[in-house]
Amino acid sequence: MDRKPQAPGYVLWVTKTLEEAGYETWAVGGAIRNTLLGIPAGDWDMATRAPPPVVQRLFPRTVPVGIEHGTVGVLTRDGILLEVTTFRRDVVTSGRHAVVEFADTLLEDLARRDFTINAVAWHPTCEEFQDPFGGREDLDARLLRTVGDPGERFSEDYLRVLRALRFSGRFSLRVDDETWRALCDSTDRLGILSPERIREELMKVLAQDARPSGALALYAASGVLGALYPELSLVEGCSRPGRKEELWAHCLFLTNLLPPGRPALRLTALLHGLGIPEGDGVAGEGSDLRGRDRAAALMIRYRFSNARVREVTELIGMGLEPPLYLSDPPGLRRWLHRADPDRLRSFGRIWLGKARLDRVRWGEAPGPVLDLLRRFRGELLGRPPLRVEELALNGRDLIAWGLKPSPRFGKILDHLMDWVLEDPSLNTRDRLMELVELAGFGPEESK
Ligand code: ATP
Ligand code: MG
Repeated sequence: MDRKPQAPGYVLWVTKTLEEAGYETWAVGGAIRNTLLGIPAGDWDMATRAPPPVVQRLFPRTVPVGIEHGTVGVLTRDGILLEVTTFRRDVVTSGRHAVVEFADTLLEDLARRDFTINAVAWHPTCEEFQDPFGGREDLDARLLRTVGDPGERFSEDYLRVLRALRFSGRFSLRVDDETWRALCDSTDRLGILSPERIREELMKVLAQDARPSGALALYAASGVLGALYPELSLVEGCSRPGRKEELWAHCLFLTNLLPPGRPALRLTALLHGLGIPEGDGVAGEGSDLRGRDRAAALMIRYRFSNARVREVTELIGMGLEPPLYLSDPPGLRRWLHRADPDRLRSFGRIWLGKARLDRVRWGEAPGPVLDLLRRFRGELLGRPPLRVEELALNGRDLIAWGLKPSPRFGKILDHLMDWVLEDPSLNTRDRLMELVELAGFGPEESK
């Protein structure tokens, strides 16, 4: 039995306003699909016969979010932005872009949509469906199918290949045989997509899906992984005899266990095995550093922001194994200094994810990780200096003292940091000066 979408008040308002002005208007896409699946609707999207200038004229506050594609954002009184798009049809497609023109009918608009499950329209006031491609039937059968010939539809826009894997994984839909064949045949053309679109698709998998392993396994099975992420494909093919589980399975499980609200941590989990293939097959410092470099190359290729690259690669470079062996305060402080204390929260999430994985899979208790986090927190309570900038002495002090500025300053400060990590009580200007002198870094030697 069909679940009826419950259109929120602002959707009814927009529909009524457009229809009273004489323009047919429907709700389409994700919100309708999600309602039929019995999950929260998410963002509503509207399709209308009204051309963009009319939409802009009819509503007091609008934003031209994608005016060249016919999309006007209507701002509601509560500050919600509802996207209203004029019916469209494709004129020319290139595999990565479409030239569209406005269409007269809803049917034409639905026909250019990617999958049958995304091509169901709902009329918010008449409360009726338009479902010319059998999307509801496919949802009932849990089947993902393109609207029209799959080979043609993928070649119009290869992003649909990635979208198919995302929807199939997220909603546990089987990809229809013909669609699957065309999808696999399209993988060698994915390179024409812009790196940004490829990246956003992956991040949607990580941010939207409770269990991204489903879509990611389909990335591997279809050949998409090999085409776009060959270094991950090596992780997938990496066999480690004698280990409790395969490397790829381990990365996917860990990805699932981190929260969708922290997609960068999930990406870290997904990429953290990159250093193991083609190494000596063992995890350790060497593979962590190799993994860090491979993760950086992958992320730069797909134009991740510098901050994201830094975050993920710093985590991978430190290794994701909790340093359970750390117990004495200097050891804890040295680790925090190397990792950057701000990263401790991220590491904590990852270690707890790993501990949950071990508990679920091998019945191991998470106690040791909780104890380690307690030790770190206890250490941080004393606010020990952990960064060079927190030293009670800086380059200016060294100059004032008569030393000539030189690259040696960095080395001197590193030495001081080392002493202060060992014993935070040394962090006064006078004690540090003494230490500089003792170590032979004084003004005489610098001449
Ligand atoms: P979600 O927002 O949860 O990812 P969605 O279905 O709303 O899912 P959007 O990317 O917001 O996806 O797109 C809205 C609708 O536009 C889709 O449901 C689909 O009908 C259509 N659509 C989006 N991208 C494409 C595409 N590349 N080719 C064809 N139709 C598309
Ligand atoms: Mg959407």
